[in-house]
Amino acid sequence: MMWLMVGLLTCLTIIVSYFLSLLLLPRAKSLQTGGIFFDDLYDNRFHQIQIELEKSRSLHQATLESTADGILVVDNGGKIAGFNQKFVQMWGIPEAILVSGLDKQALKVALSQLKYPKEYIATIRELYVRPDAQVSDAIAFKDGRIFERYSQPQYVGGQIVGRVWSFRDITAQKTAEAKIHHQSLHDLLTDLPNRVLFNELLASALKQARDSEDHLAVCFLDLDRFKTINDTLGHAVGDQLLKSVTKRLTQCLREGDIIARWGGDEFTILLPKIRDIKDAANIQERILAALNPRFDIEDHQLHVSASIGIALYPLHGLDAEILMKHADAALNRAKSQGRNKYQFYNFGITTQTTELFILENSLYYALEKGELVVHYQPQVNITTGKITKMEALLRWQHSGLGIISPTKFIPLAEETGQIIPIGEWVLRTACTQTKYWQKALAMPSLSIAVNLSARQFQQPNLVDMVQQILIETELAPECLELEITEGIAMQNIDLTKDILNELHRMGVSISIDDFGTGYCSLAYIKNFPIHTLKIDKSFVRDLATNRHDAAITSAIIALAHGLNMNVVAEGVETEEQRRLLQVLDCELMQGFLFSRAISAADATKLLRRYKSQKFNNHPFLVA
Ligand code: C2E
Ligand code: MG
Ligand code: MG
Repeated sequence: MMWLMVGLLTCLTIIVSYFLSLLLLPRAKSLQTGGIFFDDLYDNRFHQIQIELEKSRSLHQATLESTADGILVVDNGGKIAGFNQKFVQMWGIPEAILVSGLDKQALKVALSQLKYPKEYIATIRELYVRPDAQVSDAIAFKDGRIFERYSQPQYVGGQIVGRVWSFRDITAQKTAEAKIHHQSLHDLLTDLPNRVLFNELLASALKQARDSEDHLAVCFLDLDRFKTINDTLGHAVGDQLLKSVTKRLTQCLREGDIIARWGGDEFTILLPKIRDIKDAANIQERILAALNPRFDIEDHQLHVSASIGIALYPLHGLDAEILMKHADAALNRAKSQGRNKYQFYNFGITTQTTELFILENSLYYALEKGELVVHYQPQVNITTGKITKMEALLRWQHSGLGIISPTKFIPLAEETGQIIPIGEWVLRTACTQTKYWQKALAMPSLSIAVNLSARQFQQPNLVDMVQQILIETELAPECLELEITEGIAMQNIDLTKDILNELHRMGVSISIDDFGTGYCSLAYIKNFPIHTLKIDKSFVRDLATNRHDAAITSAIIALAHGLNMNVVAEGVETEEQRRLLQVLDCELMQGFLFSRAISAADATKLLRRYKSQKFNNHPFLVA
């Protein structure tokens, strides 16, 4: 119909032009000849043409008004040349504006109603550039209506004289289409996404997680003993219960989480962007708690619980299929363990990766939860019997896993970058503690040794950070020694040299930890401002029985003395080791023989006791 209308309109224009030419040509001739006969003939024809014109005009108008489409005709300059009543109704533009050809005002009224007025204008602009183009698209209104828009040029005698726009209200059709589309992707009872949509959403969430290296969780939730309720109270009650359960489940989720009805009493949940296993666990706890209060459905008071199985990306699987399979397996395990429970896939079997994952994720909170503590181990000068220094050694008191060794979590903290805030905290804590000891125990020259990791050492603001902490804690730079390993020192020679020189200028000492286990060029050792070499405990352990270890230990001691450095033997556990080291001329020692690394409070007691008894006379173990 719309096409017919537009065609008709164009034809009418041509017909009108044709009749006008018939009318005007003979009249011109008559004027030339001046004959009366021709004038009569002209009047008759003129009358006939007028009738024909009127007929065609009324046909044109009737046709225009009888269509369900709104029609607007504009000339090449954009001026309104015609419209029908349907157009007026559809667009609500006052007729007075249209009749008086106020195209700009009409456009303003039109644009004020549209959802995307800029796109609308863009199309019009484009058509000015391409006057012969046809356009067919849909336009959306702010009030929800949708019009189909069609436009084609208007030709007269092969020339484009304007453009015809026709609009059809397709809101009902589009709403129906949208409803059908929604229904095809949602569950009719609960209006939750169905399997199809869930699978689509999971696929795109996985892609996003892969791209941004996020974790996500896929969960299978099954209502415990729902079948009994359905069978005994009927499907109507069962349906009501499912709706109420859906409402509570939805309230437990975060924005962006997705819950779908997988079928029957089974739901699937997608938790994107979880930070750690605890995030996922917290949501499960919320879900189980939310289902706890009874449900009042009709006259029945119902109690429902759920079992949940969870699989984590990337830990338990990399693709949707595996994750769903593993979440399902975890669900079965949760059910077999007595229901009203959630269960992670593989959680029971502590594989190394699971453990690492748990550690990595809980490490994020370790600092703020106060789970990290600094312990201290004394360094003793066995000639003078004095404690010269304490070494700060980090401990993680994990709420669930007990004390975790730094050898386990420091590499992890290195990998994730968490070592930066953690390392800074250790330094600040150790300096504060040492300052306290210096004052409270009247030990003004007591020093502290703090370990630095590779990543910390590469931090561009390391020197500033150290200086800042020294200022804050009022600890003299001479009382701080930073321990680095040979590996760290050799990573970037120039950088090492610069940093060590800056620290040295500041007054801070440097020691090479675990010396002998890594690779360190003696040429660099000679040129770096290093104050102390710490002999690794692996050489000290078998000192009495392994002559190679004895030879290496002796060589390190000689090297240190030759380079005018201090030398400390680590891991001294026995009196025999102590004696041998003393023979080899090593006077600074650290090890269980004197004390293990102990808490700040115990270290305070130890230092107090030490002030009255000297280590060399009374070596003792502190548990
Ligand atoms: P390290 O700096 O060489 O520290 C000495 C390690 O030997 C400590 O282990 C200490 O408890 C242990 N030890 C001391 N005396 C004896 C002994 O007589 N026998 C035996 N078998 N072991 C002894 P810990 O505390 O487990 O620390 C291990 C490593 O973790 C440290 O080795 C250090 O490299 C690193 N670390 C500890 N705290 C920090 C820290 O705050 N920052 C950084 N970056 N690394 C740290
Ligand atoms: Mg150390
Ligand atoms: Mg060491």
